[in-house]
Amino acid sequence: MKIIRTIREMQEWSDAKRRAGATIAVVPTMGYLHEGHLSLIDTARKNGADTVIVTIFVNPTQFGPNEDFACYPRDFEHDSRLCEEKGVDVIFAPEAQEMYPEDSSTWVVEEKLSKGLCAKTRPTHFRGVTTVVSKLFLATLPHLAVFGQKDGQQARAIKRMVRDLNFPIRIVISPLIREPDGLARSSRNKYLSEEEHRNALSIFRGLTKLKADIDSGRTDLAALLAELRASIEAAGGVVDYIEAVDAETLEPKTSVEGSMMFPVAAYFGKTRLIDNILVER
Ligand code: AMP
Repeated sequence: MKIIRTIREMQEWSDAKRRAGATIAVVPTMGYLHEGHLSLIDTARKNGADTVIVTIFVNPTQFGPNEDFACYPRDFEHDSRLCEEKGVDVIFAPEAQEMYPEDSSTWVVEEKLSKGLCAKTRPTHFRGVTTVVSKLFLATLPHLAVFGQKDGQQARAIKRMVRDLNFPIRIVISPLIREPDGLARSSRNKYLSEEEHRNALSIFRGLTKLKADIDSGRTDLAALLAELRASIEAAGGVVDYIEAVDAETLEPKTSVEGSMMFPVAAYFGKTRLIDNILVER
């Protein structure tokens, strides 16, 4: 497994692979890898990739001024061991100066799906994501890129950006992976105390119940959302948002029909967790 730190070397490596006929997948991450990230590598292979690049870059431009950029968990040795075991071909792990020259003044902004939900409390987050993902695409030159359903809004915004800007890259969205107890896997779960972790299971339990209720015929959307909120609040969670949206366009849903996504963001202690469930009707 190769570790590449510069954009030039990454582009040359991918260019040579492409000329040799390889199908390249990129899996962008911020590191501190877990089963959720590793499942994206499997998804890349299932979708025809014979060459997998994992990028590890804690992207400063997607963090707000009062967010956890400085203390975001990092463990490159652990990450590279997991990637090696998974048969990853390259880790692309540039320094911030390599990705952003000091006088960098260009942004890639998606203006529709990047509004609402997480953007309400993180107004500059998605601009940072779409910019860095564009830059990672241009550095790694992949045929396909895999993103997780865990970050449902992010994956939809990136799909739209790729369509609108004609990136010749297929975007694959990979299922949300949970811990055995149901908590959505996240690098940020490390911030939770044991008690906060236990309380945070209310998100998964509430989402699972909501899906079961819809599957068994309930259509009273406002009441379903209110019950989900109440169950999270009863466990001490502070809800940032709970919504019912169209699973592709993220437009708010007013009735139970079609492909729906129910995204949730809630604080347990100081930690902000996101989760969601997809429901078909
Ligand atoms: P992050 O390192 O948190 O920026 O995540 C990198 C990629 O891994 C994103 O596409 C995430 O959606 C995906 N990911 C993170 N956690 C999970 C999970 N629990 N299940 C599926 N994908 C995930």
